[in-house]
Amino acid sequence: MTTIAFIGLGNMGNPMAANLVKAGYEVRGFDLLPENLAKAEANGVLRADSAEGAVEGAEAVITMLPAGKHVLTVYENLAPKAAKGTPFIDSSTIDVDSARRAHAMAAEHGHLSIDAPVSGGVGGAEAGTLTFMAGGSDEAFARAEPILKPMAGRIVHCGAAGAGQAAKICNNMILGVSMIAVGEAFVLAEKLGLSHQALFEVASTSSGQCWSLTSYCPVPGPVPASPANRDYRPGFAASLMLKDLRLAQEAAQAAGAAIPLGAEAAQLYALFEAMGNGGKDFSAIINFLRGGAEGNHSPAQKSRIKVCASTC
Ligand code: NAD
Repeated sequence: MTTIAFIGLGNMGNPMAANLVKAGYEVRGFDLLPENLAKAEANGVLRADSAEGAVEGAEAVITMLPAGKHVLTVYENLAPKAAKGTPFIDSSTIDVDSARRAHAMAAEHGHLSIDAPVSGGVGGAEAGTLTFMAGGSDEAFARAEPILKPMAGRIVHCGAAGAGQAAKICNNMILGVSMIAVGEAFVLAEKLGLSHQALFEVASTSSGQCWSLTSYCPVPGPVPASPANRDYRPGFAASLMLKDLRLAQEAAQAAGAAIPLGAEAAQLYALFEAMGNGGKDFSAIINFLRGGAEGNHSPAQKSRIKVCASTC
């Protein structure tokens, strides 16, 4: 039986590890939070007392952590301890620079590595239908691909080290910008006396068609499964959208790319989060657009908006 070390058993890592167990892998898991370790144990993951303990004798290492700094700390610790040639798979969403540094650390100790961020959210992690966007050598990808399969609906090898993270942030920038565009269109339609359903029927079959409209419509009604029909419970939280839009900003600055709509989207989501909406689904931005920065917000909210606008 192949043993996999899984580090980071949070909202995403826990169901991903559970699908590896179901596929017949021995999964040794570690997380800093005892409650997440307990959940993993209930799913058949073998509990390790430390990240080092999880990696001992493991034939692959998967990380699913909050940000680049966590991934680099874990790689610094584990890369010297894993058996030479072990594939390291990082599925966290992190900045491209940290992803490349993590690859370099793995290579320094003779390991294969891929960055393999995912889209599909907690629902996709539970169903084993995540899309993996992978960056790394052909050899590393070939070793990692069969391990990813039980967690995946689709696996795309995007290119060399960091290409998976690049694909992830470019995709999510499209998503953030298009959700704002769709939200603005519904708000304008309301002001013009056009019904939600009428706009949906026209735009969903016309040139305004996009995923934010047809699969994730931000107003209740036209797409019954969208979070708008359940009071904007996530789904994909606005705070995670903001994280990804900020990663796009960082990458664009480092690469010298102009992304003015990406910058505007990051600022709008920063304002939305500063008003206490980070835990709502990102499609709830329509309610912020409907109120307007100077519209229905309380004086306390307005002053927070001003503070945030001058800092973000
Ligand atoms: P989470 O906060 O629920 O899980 C992260 C886990 O990592 C936590 O349980 C934390 O205790 C653990 N952790 C942190 N540092 C650690 C360390 N040094 N050693 C061991 N464990 C450590 O986050 P999540 O929602 O599972 O997201 C994980 C990653 O996936 C993030 O990068 C996120 O951006 C990305 N992502 C999330 C979603 C989503 O819908 N939640 C979708 C796509 C991608």
